Amino acid sequence: MTAGTAREGTVVWVGDVPIGGAEAVVMAGPCSVESRWQVTETAFAVKSCGAAILRGGAYKPRTSPYDFQGLGIEGLKLLRRAGDEAGMPVVTEVMSEDDIGAVSDHADMLQVGARNMQNFALLKKLARAGRPILLKRGPSATVKEWLSAAEYLLHGGNERVVLCERGIKTFDTGLRNTLDLASVALVKEMTHLPVIVDPSHATGKRSLIAVCARAAMAIGADGVIVEVHPEPEKALSDGAQSLTFDGFAEMMMGMAAPLRAVRGVGAAVIR
Ligand code: PEP
Ligand code: MN
Repeated sequence: MTAGTAREGTVVWVGDVPIGGAEAVVMAGPCSVESRWQVTETAFAVKSCGAAILRGGAYKPRTSPYDFQGLGIEGLKLLRRAGDEAGMPVVTEVMSEDDIGAVSDHADMLQVGARNMQNFALLKKLARAGRPILLKRGPSATVKEWLSAAEYLLHGGNERVVLCERGIKTFDTGLRNTLDLASVALVKEMTHLPVIVDPSHATGKRSLIAVCARAAMAIGADGVIVEVHPEPEKALSDGAQSLTFDGFAEMMMGMAAPLRAVRGVGAAVIR
């Protein structure tokens, strides 16, 4: 099946968590894995509020080479351990073809970051990695280019693809990016693949994340992925867009009403 056929929604399983089914899925965790304490505290905090999948970067695509680049293999181990302790599957970015083996050994889902969306050599290899893929939309990619990138994975033999809208570059510089929510509805019309929203990278601004998560539910997204940190002001990356534990709990509560409105009375976030 190609990305652009069939209206029946595909359900992508990540560990024991279905994405694209009746319920919405929340992935949450730090932008970067920084320490055992930081990732483990966060895992237990988000799990207790209803997050289903733990996120955390070990290989970080930073604009400046002088910024924190991630803990690499050590970060992968810490993420895996925190996920196992809290009882959650984990998702993390794979930046390079060289790292596919190590990342696949530690993670349940592999993230292709926005900057790598059109790294076709990486996509071709990931099509054979045997892991579900979270494919972020490139900052300047059209919907057509985004779906073509997904097609590389499907065509290469990996049907387990989840799309993620994370904001695009526009003329507006008021926020880090522009959240293109209409594209989520469009992509839901055009493909059978699950689509989630990343309000953290889309806005870059902590105070807007909960309201954008609500909007994502209202427009029919299959879930959200958000950044959470025990001490956002001390985060080594993306602190300004990281939720506190209390902020995350509030976001989760705010998602309930739009979820019910769109998916029916019994709809909930998956735990
Ligand atoms: C991330 O999820 O940490 C990240 C770097 O996201 P993006 O690739 O969307 O910028
Ligand atoms: Mn980040």
